[in-house]
Amino acid sequence: MVSHQTVTETTTSAAERAVLDQARTGLYIGGSWVDARDGATFDVVDPSRGQPLCAVADASVADGRAALDAAVAAQPSFAATTPRERSDVLMRAFELLHERIDDLALLMTLEMGKPLAESRGEISYAAEFVRHFAGEAVRIDGGYQQAPGGSGRFLVAKQPVGPCLLITPWNFPMAMATRKIAPAIAAGCTSVVKPAAQTPLSTLAFVGILAEAGLADGVVNVVTTTAAGGVMEPLIRSGLARKLSFTGSTKVGKVLLEQCAENVLRTSMELGGNAPFIVFEDADLDEAVDGAIAAKMRNMGEACTAANRIYVQSGIIGEFGQRLAQKMSAMTVGRGVDDGVRVGPLIDEAAQRKVGELVDDAVGQGARVLTGGQTPSGEGYFYPPTVLTDVPQSARMTDEEIFGPVAPLTPFGDESEVIAAANDTEYGLVSFVYTNDLRRALRVAETIETGMVGLNQGVVSNAAAPFGGIKQSGLGREGGSVGIEEFLETKYIAIALS
Ligand code: NAP
Repeated sequence: MVSHQTVTETTTSAAERAVLDQARTGLYIGGSWVDARDGATFDVVDPSRGQPLCAVADASVADGRAALDAAVAAQPSFAATTPRERSDVLMRAFELLHERIDDLALLMTLEMGKPLAESRGEISYAAEFVRHFAGEAVRIDGGYQQAPGGSGRFLVAKQPVGPCLLITPWNFPMAMATRKIAPAIAAGCTSVVKPAAQTPLSTLAFVGILAEAGLADGVVNVVTTTAAGGVMEPLIRSGLARKLSFTGSTKVGKVLLEQCAENVLRTSMELGGNAPFIVFEDADLDEAVDGAIAAKMRNMGEACTAANRIYVQSGIIGEFGQRLAQKMSAMTVGRGVDDGVRVGPLIDEAAQRKVGELVDDAVGQGARVLTGGQTPSGEGYFYPPTVLTDVPQSARMTDEEIFGPVAPLTPFGDESEVIAAANDTEYGLVSFVYTNDLRRALRVAETIETGMVGLNQGVVSNAAAPFGGIKQSGLGREGGSVGIEEFLETKYIAIALS
């Protein structure tokens, strides 16, 4: 078993203090930064130390309602703005994101834990949604058509859905927000955004940037709260919002879908994943190992797209496991702000405990540890890069999202066997397939039950591509040319000509 390098430096730098001192910590309602009405706050915690970073406003039901009222009030005038005006605001925000990338990356690393290089990567990715939808705003189109049976004409127009509720998770605190806020703005929809309580600072910073970029008051409103259900359910059931766009767990998504049914809200659901990563014997082994590291270790494995089950054809699993363990064990674990760190902490103690339990369960059922596998002691919620092999299908981690830096390898014999195993899950977000046989690649890509497939690549996310899942991984798509459709209604106007 290979041991891990750990960075132990623990001083809070002046740069960290300065970024936190400037961080937005209030609610943003109707164009003003305000405290919660009852003055309540909650702490945002640094997961690398388990210590509070700063306090943010803890919204009550009344604060949530004020935010939705502001969005409703701003909707008519915002819908009347020109596509070019909305596009220009987004382009200014895109430029500001890049101008401030260093400070924004540090803020993200402090609240979420990922290494600084990954935070910079996420801000670039988040900014791409802003730029992409700046372009889409001016490409909203409709149609004009002759009725097949006569002289009538069909006019098809696109209109904003109306006030939206946008709920985001903690794992990509900026990108998950821009992936919703940017298309909402492009389409002419106002919104109330509720970021995850564990990582509100990046979303608040982005909304501050939108205000600087000239976004009108009330168009985007943000509530941070420790009472997610208590604050959001009345808004969902109010009859004032027209749409809910949610990114998070399938469990919470199902609850929200039920709540949305009351007023038949439009919904977009980006939910959990259980990605299979399949390596055939004819694959390029070096590329497959690097792809597995990208698919597994990005965001410390805390990604809906993370490789959750790695199936390797029997003839190469030994060599693949050895090379993967070698590379993963060489990744430095530590505070994301420190130089050379490749693996930051998990989000909280519960996440750290759950990953440890999943590993213990798999090992108890016969899996072998090639590297890692032990929860470290000391401050922060760290877990080492871990490779397990011979993980049986009965292990809990083949059914549940690991959400940690653990790569479970399972051998397979032939194509039909591995496709059956890969599809044996209620999730269907993404899959990864490594093979140099074009026919096999296309056969597997067409048969596998996921909304996205990475062919010989371990990361599929791109603002210009339609991101989303099938089965219980979600409804709708974000990004690409279809992303804006989620925020548009189609109106058909029948015209009599005779
Ligand atoms: P989560 O527990 O479902 O929370 C997501 C968001 O929903 C948070 O803002 C949370 O607020 C809020 N929330 C929780 N309960 C709620 C309720 N009853 N009513 C309204 N809002 C509620 O998920 P998470 O742990 O933050 O994120 C990890 C999950 O997200 C994983 O399953 C991952 O696969 C999924 N994910 C999916 C995608 C995708 O694109 N498909 C992308 C990223 C992540 P609090 O923070 O206050 O609890």
